[in-house]
Amino acid sequence: MVLGELGDKLKGTLSKISKALFVDEKLLDEIVREIQRALLHADINVQLVFKLSKSIKERALKEDIPGLDKREHLVKIVYEELVQFLGGDKKEPDISKAPTKLMLVGLFGAGKTTTSGKLAKYYSKRGKKVALVGLDVWRPAAMKQLEQVGKNVGVDTFVNMDEKNPLTIWNSVKEDVEKYDLIIIDTAGRDALSEELIKEIEDVTDAIAPDEKILVLQADIGQAAQAQAEQFHKSCNITGVIISKMDGSAKGGGALTACAVTGAPIMFIGVGEGPSDLESFNPKGFVSRLLGMGDIEALLEKAQEAMAGTNQEDMQKKLMKGDFDLNDLYEQMNAMKKMGSLSKIMDLMPGMGGMKIPKEALKGQDEKLTKWKFIIDSCTPFERANPDQMNGSRVERIAKGSGTTPQQIRELLKQYKMSKKLMKSMGGSEKKMQKMMAKMQGGQMGR
Ligand code: GDP
Repeated sequence: MVLGELGDKLKGTLSKISKALFVDEKLLDEIVREIQRALLHADINVQLVFKLSKSIKERALKEDIPGLDKREHLVKIVYEELVQFLGGDKKEPDISKAPTKLMLVGLFGAGKTTTSGKLAKYYSKRGKKVALVGLDVWRPAAMKQLEQVGKNVGVDTFVNMDEKNPLTIWNSVKEDVEKYDLIIIDTAGRDALSEELIKEIEDVTDAIAPDEKILVLQADIGQAAQAQAEQFHKSCNITGVIISKMDGSAKGGGALTACAVTGAPIMFIGVGEGPSDLESFNPKGFVSRLLGMGDIEALLEKAQEAMAGTNQEDMQKKLMKGDFDLNDLYEQMNAMKKMGSLSKIMDLMPGMGGMKIPKEALKGQDEKLTKWKFIIDSCTPFERANPDQMNGSRVERIAKGSGTTPQQIRELLKQYKMSKKLMKSMGGSEKKMQKMMAKMQGGQMGR
């Protein structure tokens, strides 16, 4: 998980609060000290940390919310203050106008080209017709990389390997890209924000008139993100920030909080090298997840994305009636796979993020799902529609075909029968489902 170590420490602190007999000044001091230590360890600026801990303590001593246990109240304060610390409300690029021109700026190696592809994927999945435009004329391989990224995510890409003037490239493509909903423009970086880079950004800004100008920063620069965000904010008028490489750095906390204080909103975070490794940055969801309370919004978004293209209504009716076969189970498993690994999903589930489920166990589950997919692949259409009629010789044949064992096939069938029974026992009542969802959301500390 992103900032996993910080999350573990904060979760420990919260559980100390809930186990405490009562909240007194001694406990408060202890809690505040633990939070300070955890945040400092994540490379967060000392002054910011002290400001945060001061306001947690002040609020805890001053406020009294009727109906809320003192301990619950303290957890709520910690949650709310951390959310504010990370910028408060979620902010996204405004892409309502067509075409919206979204330009990425930043230094060498910040992740602009990779992020261009991730954004292209993110918005195409949401039904936007996206074009990528390469104006990075400085880094020799940038154009080729963007072309490849565009191909991978299936969007049209406009590049020119020979031209060295970004304005000439833009002028040659600007009419062609008018018909898209969203134009994502990758620009050149430098080692530092030099006069030359500022001038180039100004020139392309004048020519393109981007609706959003987003700075890409890499998480591992930690607190230095503040100076960079401030400089870019002042010289180039950026409208938002994307922090890349949050997956590989324990300093991500420093970068996030340093940016938040500049007033340049963080819109997305990059959490890996792949085209799907981009998350819309929502301080509330982020803190919930960090504290092990789950992130129901992100979970629903992921589920929606994964289910896009499948007939959800039909599936829901079938599930509710307990009337589903291996074809449906297969479709469900595919959707699950698209949502990512189980350990990523668990982080988003309220109440699950805090649980210490060994990574190996989750990995085992992921492997099992892959095996089950092979098994269903090896079934005939008759077998998929009639799993109840699976006999010994069929099981033998499928085991051979899928490279699994009869034991594994029986396990899948058992799981199938259990799921079917479970769905049936829910009695087709959508109310029950809704109740369950409400309960899950209730677990989110009065958001
Ligand atoms: P640019 O010079 O700003 O265009 O940077 P690139 O897009 O070429 O990225 C530089 C390197 O960072 C590449 O090796 C990317 O694969 C890697 N990278 C970019 N974003 C992420 C991220 O979110 N996580 C990880 N782990 N690597 C990333």
